[in-house]
Amino acid sequence: LSQRLEQVFQQLRRRGKLSEQDVDAAMREVRLALLEADVHFSVVKDFISRVRERAVGAEVSKALNPAQQVIKIVHEELIKTLGEPARLNLSGPKPRVIMMVGLQGSGKTTAAAKLASLLRSQGERVELVAADPYRPAAIKQLQTLGERIGVPVYTESGVKPPELVSRAFEKAQKSGVSVLIVDTAGRSQLDNALMDELKAITRRVTPNEILLVVDAMIGQEALHVAEGFRDTVTLTGLMLTKMDGDARGGAAISIRAVTGVPLKFLGTGEAIDAIEVYDPGRLASRILGMGDVIGLIERAEAAFDEKEAQEQAERMLSGSFTLEDFAKQLKQIRKMGPLAQILEMLPGGLGQMARNISPEEAERSLKITEAILNSMTREERRRPEILNASRRRRIARGSGTQVQDVNRVLKQFRDAQKMFKTLQKTGGRGLPRLFG
Ligand code: GDP
Ligand code: MG
Repeated sequence: LSQRLEQVFQQLRRRGKLSEQDVDAAMREVRLALLEADVHFSVVKDFISRVRERAVGAEVSKALNPAQQVIKIVHEELIKTLGEPARLNLSGPKPRVIMMVGLQGSGKTTAAAKLASLLRSQGERVELVAADPYRPAAIKQLQTLGERIGVPVYTESGVKPPELVSRAFEKAQKSGVSVLIVDTAGRSQLDNALMDELKAITRRVTPNEILLVVDAMIGQEALHVAEGFRDTVTLTGLMLTKMDGDARGGAAISIRAVTGVPLKFLGTGEAIDAIEVYDPGRLASRILGMGDVIGLIERAEAAFDEKEAQEQAERMLSGSFTLEDFAKQLKQIRKMGPLAQILEMLPGGLGQMARNISPEEAERSLKITEAILNSMTREERRRPEILNASRRRRIARGSGTQVQDVNRVLKQFRDAQKMFKTLQKTGGRGLPRLFG
């Protein structure tokens, strides 16, 4: 998203305020990003109108460009929409019952085991209940997981779930279990028999928590599923699973906004410890598909000398960008922190690309570049065209590098120059992308 927004704003020069037109253009991109992340369109519409209201006429902060300003507003509003993290309610007499509900394959059984393991590590005495007695494989699955994490599993064959849960509860009460996690049966789609059964269970025991487990990969459908379950039982929380896949988790926004059910956990893999307590800032960044752009913006704000940057931008645009400027930009990037961290924070494709280069490699290449630039005279940095073979050899010797390294740096510079020329056509603002 941030790349797209920067594109939108590239045409703009800094102004005192964001105009309605600027904001409209940005909102088109935000809207797309949210739809791509599977947020329901009606939720997107509401969201956009709130952001627009805040953004139009907002004073552009001195330190931020318009794209960054809009990103900040979008991010803040998204966090508001996603809601504060809600903790598990584990109050009241023991055992406290946590019931996992959801469609088949959503990850209920896995989630039950993850939660059991998490709560046990926090000192709870946990027991799992296999309330899916129709499928022997389902019982076996929970037993295997239970064994692996050392948590007992209550099972009984030939007993209907409401009765089974009630018996498990009584036994747990006697034996001092503090948390009972009930893994219920699922169906491949919403149906009445399933809903009746869930209702019947909650008539026998009163759960502290009824957690809806939703597969993030089902996208838009998630909202429909959440509404179906909410109409049957009192959902107290949401766990969004399979967040390790491609899904960006936009379903969470829709579910939260439409049903009011708070998000509590994310499932991030098949392993038992692949569970995250929901964190709004992190999820918001992920939904917008922009890595830790906010962190990057903050560092940029701190490191960039506004006037200097402006002058450089103007030189770039006038085509008089030199190796001298190149050296200065490397210094600015340096001021932002360790290279590995900066690369990590880059959004989307750039971040990915950065991860393919090892941080050590990137660091080494940057050091070589700096050494080479330092071994040039000012004149050479201003007029790289005078760099003939003998000058290149001297620079290589002076910087402890090879002539090939010098040539590579010069090529990088020419590539950067070319890129700035392209930018020139669109107006060129934003962070220089030296690693593009
Ligand atoms: P249930 O039918 O709702 O009980 O779903 P299961 O717990 O049996 O999970 C269905 C499949 O999804 C299994 O293969 C799990 O290993 C897998 N699964 C569950 N949670 C996650 C997750 O967070 N990430 C990934 N990648 N797979 C998951
Ligand atoms: Mg299951």
